[in-house]
Amino acid sequence: MTAKTVKKPPAQASASPDIRSCLRYFEERQDQIIETTRQLVEVESPTDSKPAVDRLGSLLAGRFEKLEGHAKFHRTQNFGDHLQVDFTGKSAGKPVMLLGHLDTVYPVGTLATMPFHRADGRLWGPGSFDMKSGIAFMLHAIEALRVWHGDQLPRPVTILLVSDEEVGSDTSRHITENLARKAAAVLVLEPAFGLKGAVKTARKGVGEYNLKVIGKAAHSGLDFEKGASAIIELSRQVIEISKLVDLKRGITLNVGTIQGGTRSNVIPGEASALLDVRVAHMKDAAAIDRKLRSRRPFNGKCKLEITGGVNRPPMERTVAVAALYKKASDIAKQLGWKMEEAAVGGGSDGNFTAGLGIPTLDGLGGVGEGAHAPNESVLISEMPRRTALLARLIESV
Ligand SMILES: [Zn+2]
Repeated sequence: MTAKTVKKPPAQASASPDIRSCLRYFEERQDQIIETTRQLVEVESPTDSKPAVDRLGSLLAGRFEKLEGHAKFHRTQNFGDHLQVDFTGKSAGKPVMLLGHLDTVYPVGTLATMPFHRADGRLWGPGSFDMKSGIAFMLHAIEALRVWHGDQLPRPVTILLVSDEEVGSDTSRHITENLARKAAAVLVLEPAFGLKGAVKTARKGVGEYNLKVIGKAAHSGLDFEKGASAIIELSRQVIEISKLVDLKRGITLNVGTIQGGTRSNVIPGEASALLDVRVAHMKDAAAIDRKLRSRRPFNGKCKLEITGGVNRPPMERTVAVAALYKKASDIAKQLGWKMEEAAVGGGSDGNFTAGLGIPTLDGLGGVGEGAHAPNESVLISEMPRRTALLARLIESV
């Protein structure tokens, strides 16, 4: 007999249980998922504290290495190191990429006033929802897949946990994009949308601009007519650019802060505004950018300077995204759950990967509410089936 004929056929090689048993598997391990989430929440990891984020990174590297993942850090000077973990699989082919972030918006010490705890069917604490429960799902889904497939994964998986997502992902974007280009699909374990746990199939693109006016300062009593008020010019500009808002097309523009002037008796020589721009479609990003940059001053004695740009492209609901959603909702249906999809205004690193045309599904993490707020919490009852969904998706995309 040749080696070839002894080889197990693929049907027997895959030992994963039927979908109901798969769900039961995670229901029986709910306490372990809770315990992992607790561990992760209790290692605080604000974006601006490199030592804190690195502590969480090395804890996770250790956990993934126990599952025979190959962990490597992308060293970063001012932020925590980004953690990449590669798993080989029984079959060759492109890996599935699991994407998330280590950082939170809560300063070190927040646990003193917002301790991790369990109450009312939820887990509470900084980062519990955004997105440490999502990282716990990754760990437990990988662990289960290894059990079901004879101590290895059915296919290669690459995990990337970045450290600067909450401040725009400037230092990690190229890593995210490089890994996504090699992946079959990207599953983003960011929080789900709403308490029904919808996944996110579209996200707006996000831009930030600074509009600065340079006028001419002068004494408001002695030299009134020699001055050129930067505040008046900025005010007129703000009203004008606010007309770019088009809710139907999914374009919003918010002037979030303005500042200018020095004292009441001085005609202000400088004023500036910070704008947040969101677009649902890529082509609108370019159009808005052009319109903002081509603004001319109303008062010829003033000058405008505009800096910034769109830092996250929109994640559009492409055919590839819709197909991936369909796959996920079919699995959910087998789990007895009607999974919904949502288009949201906030961006994530999934915007980058979807922008490259890689099938991307976002919002696969915890179900809860209060991201970035004192009531941040996740529903315990949703944890087993979301981990089951993740495991099944890794097997099937
Ligand atoms: Zn997040």
